[in-house]
Amino acid sequence: MKKFLTVCLAAGTLAASALGFSACGGGNTLVVYTEAGFAPFEYLSDGQIVGVDVDIMNQVGEKLGRDVVFENVNFDVIVDAVSEGRLTNVGAAGLSITEERREKVDFSIPYYTASLYVIYKTDGTMAPEIGESTAENGSVIYWDSLAGMSIGVQGGTTADLFLTDEIGEDWGALYGTNASKTPYTSLSVAVNDIGLNTNVVIIDELPAKTLVANNDGLSCLPLYYRGETAEEDEAAVDEYAIAVTPGQDELLAAINEVLRDLIDDVDEDGNNGIQRLVMQHLDLASGN
Ligand code: GLN
Repeated sequence: MKKFLTVCLAAGTLAASALGFSACGGGNTLVVYTEAGFAPFEYLSDGQIVGVDVDIMNQVGEKLGRDVVFENVNFDVIVDAVSEGRLTNVGAAGLSITEERREKVDFSIPYYTASLYVIYKTDGTMAPEIGESTAENGSVIYWDSLAGMSIGVQGGTTADLFLTDEIGEDWGALYGTNASKTPYTSLSVAVNDIGLNTNVVIIDELPAKTLVANNDGLSCLPLYYRGETAEEDEAAVDEYAIAVTPGQDELLAAINEVLRDLIDDVDEDGNNGIQRLVMQHLDLASGN
């Protein structure tokens, strides 16, 4: 109960809880769980949570005539909290669709395709070997170049899940190499450890690029699976969607409508509404 109250107060829904609504999401307020260290999708600006996912969910709130409140929580609690549907019915957090998560939550239509990146020290301290791939048409870091390394991830992310397999499964590129995984709750803490306690951090492309833009001395490159030939190399790619509590069909439909409208709204440069939000927030989050 204590935890419940704290969350409600933090969400600014004191009035709702005083009126006796049984959950923070009660009444007309739509509580959205996110993790605000993932620019440009969600990040803090002057203490406020802003970003692409915030803009999307605010449009959903307008459509439904509901106030939207964003809760900044640890990434690894989002899917279970949305699945349970007691404190929140929506997770908007640059969340990738995975089969495991699909068993717990409903996903909106996908709205962004993302690939994993590796962040390392530009001066080469504890850094992996850099490869060249014709599939990328440039420099990449192959999974097998991370052999024996200490690798940081944000706990519960797809980077965490993929890395667990590469280390733990006998087919994995890092199996039996002494590579190890360190999960962090915060990406900014994780990147501060690069070159000290970890060799690299693996995270999605745009947060990686934003972290690198804001931290002198760090670089990042795409993470690749090595193919039989260089043409067959593959990036580690997945798709973002918004997670909704199963059974919340009206909410899911409204989210899908907002996403569909943004995706279909292509300008003369060929950018759709999501891409325009991404560019706008990349500029803001990178201090441009
Ligand atoms: N896209 C990744 C995932 O879903 C990372 C998301 C995040 O850290 N916010 O696991």
